[in-house]
Amino acid sequence: MPLANTAKNKKWTVLDSAALYGLDKWGEQYFSINELGHISVQPKGAGAGSLDLIDLVKGLETRNLQLPLLIRFDDILENRLEQIHTAFDEAIKEYKYAGSYQGVFPIKCNQQRHVVEELISSGEKWHLGLEAGSKAELLIALSLLNDPKALLICNGYKDQRYIETAILARQLGRQPVVVIEQADEVERIISSSRELGAAPLIGIRAKLASRSSGKWSNSVGETAKFGLSIPDILASLEALQSAGLINDLRLLHFHLGSQINDIAVLKDALQEASQIYVELTKLGAPMGYLDVGGGLGVDYDGSKTATTASTNYSLQNYANDVVATIKECCESNQVNVPTLISESGRAIASHFSVLLFNVLGTEGRHKKAPSSSPKECLSISNLRETLAKITATSRESEIAIPNLQEAWNDAIKFKNDALAAFRLGYLRMHERALAEQLTWACAREIVQKLPIEKNIPDELKNLRSNFAHTYYANLSIFRSAPDTWAIDQVFPIMPIHRLNEEPTELGHFADLTCDSHGKITRFIDNGEVKSLLELHQLKPNETYIIGMFLGGAYQEVMGNLHNLFGTTNAVHIRLATNGNYQVDHVVRGDTNANVLEAMEHDPEQLLEKLRIASESAIHRKSLKIKDAQRLMDHLETSLRQSTYLQQ
Ligand SMILES: *Cc1c(COP(=O)(O)O)cnc(C)c1O
Repeated sequence: MPLANTAKNKKWTVLDSAALYGLDKWGEQYFSINELGHISVQPKGAGAGSLDLIDLVKGLETRNLQLPLLIRFDDILENRLEQIHTAFDEAIKEYKYAGSYQGVFPIKCNQQRHVVEELISSGEKWHLGLEAGSKAELLIALSLLNDPKALLICNGYKDQRYIETAILARQLGRQPVVVIEQADEVERIISSSRELGAAPLIGIRAKLASRSSGKWSNSVGETAKFGLSIPDILASLEALQSAGLINDLRLLHFHLGSQINDIAVLKDALQEASQIYVELTKLGAPMGYLDVGGGLGVDYDGSKTATTASTNYSLQNYANDVVATIKECCESNQVNVPTLISESGRAIASHFSVLLFNVLGTEGRHKKAPSSSPKECLSISNLRETLAKITATSRESEIAIPNLQEAWNDAIKFKNDALAAFRLGYLRMHERALAEQLTWACAREIVQKLPIEKNIPDELKNLRSNFAHTYYANLSIFRSAPDTWAIDQVFPIMPIHRLNEEPTELGHFADLTCDSHGKITRFIDNGEVKSLLELHQLKPNETYIIGMFLGGAYQEVMGNLHNLFGTTNAVHIRLATNGNYQVDHVVRGDTNANVLEAMEHDPEQLLEKLRIASESAIHRKSLKIKDAQRLMDHLETSLRQSTYLQQ
């Protein structure tokens, strides 16, 4: 904790910041800190050029793109695809696997047009496919995926029209695989195929019995929403057989739920699924594909542990386990190994987008102890003495902790004395204020004196949070980081500059919404979660910019319009030659007019009503014409502008 760790003669360096914020652990090869103390992005991995995030923000500001900003690094997206394919290639080589790997991107993870288009064009060399879970997603996949070798996995609930669309798309030259997720879909597939005289490629999603872990663990097991139980699988197989569709059954699918934290969970599931695969081939289905679903985790805090914000395995471990387990089972049963498919969404899309927002101001406790005056009452002079005792305590002393605890007990007693005296009318308001300020001064001094890495009583540890500052963020978490609110997800969050300065404050963030849940109070802490983040004091006339990292998956679509804060500006950045960048796409954030329209209001009508109201106010002489004009100008300008505060 830097508050406690103000080593007098050691200068704070960027290495200290990298360690403090865990950047050296979660940043992978993409994020580091440069000698200016700014975050530097290496979008193509190490050694292939870097961008200074502060330079980038300045460059975008000159293009009239202001904070808050979502920056999408398409090179990172491409690099993630490369990493996953390389990991599977390595595993296939290592285990002499006779089949191949083919990825599909689950669209639900990030449906933004530029993102899907970017993935398809970067993924072309691997015939990257798409996974759709609804009709709208199917439409995106069908129209954007124009590669006959790429797979189009159709998941989700399916009605007749969904299934027929998939069958017809096969004739269009696409490769849709209709995955049976519910037992009653078999009948619909059979009747649609009869109707059209053609069949789709068919897959079956198995409901595995293997346990899972983490936030999405209820995606498996007997009560899971999707998938067929073993009796259902056998019944479906028979139905397909008698309908003459067994030769179209090509794929077995399972999905363990997102963000698998523990590799042991995956291993069990892979064994179970491999056995089912082998059985299906023995029962006469041609098969050929085994789809291990999503769930490949992201190490948000870099702790490499089986905790919710982390994973106890690497990408290579994951690929190795998939390849080795499936190979072993197929070989011992003399069954040809399948083409391996994974539907990794989070692992592909998390790293490439960075959310940047500015801090509008802070609020926190008074820092300095008020100076003394000659005629102070007893409880106040007692508090001063206690403060002096704390100040005189040596941090290195063996008895520092018991001494500090005793001093804190005293301080609380004297403060309570002062409060009682105030209640009874013996203390004036300014004296009570003094007592409170002195108590905080004692607490602050204790926090600074607490030794690091020792067993500290909870009461003293909790004092730290009393010095928390609220940093007001130009952001809506409901729009831009909804999972921090909805499911307590933690993302790496840190300042993107001043990283060669020691952060002297502890704080959390409050967003612009009028919702008391509109806060960020959970931060990564190497396998644990802390409620306060080390931050810098604001400087006058300098914007303090915070980055939220690894949020490229799920956040955009889950975000909502709470308080009518709309999307932020988003840009797509590619690394260009000689240290430059190019802005490939600009996606302007919602204007106030946009969000009003989303709620069926007509901005023009709203303005007109106000114009009429100002006319009658002018008439009543309560509003000057000039001021009425000014009001209308403000309203009209706001309608055209972003929903966030303007700098
Ligand atoms: C959500 C989902 C995925 C993606 O999961 P990630 O954890 O993001 O990789 C893959 N397959 C199915 C069926 C899903 O529902």
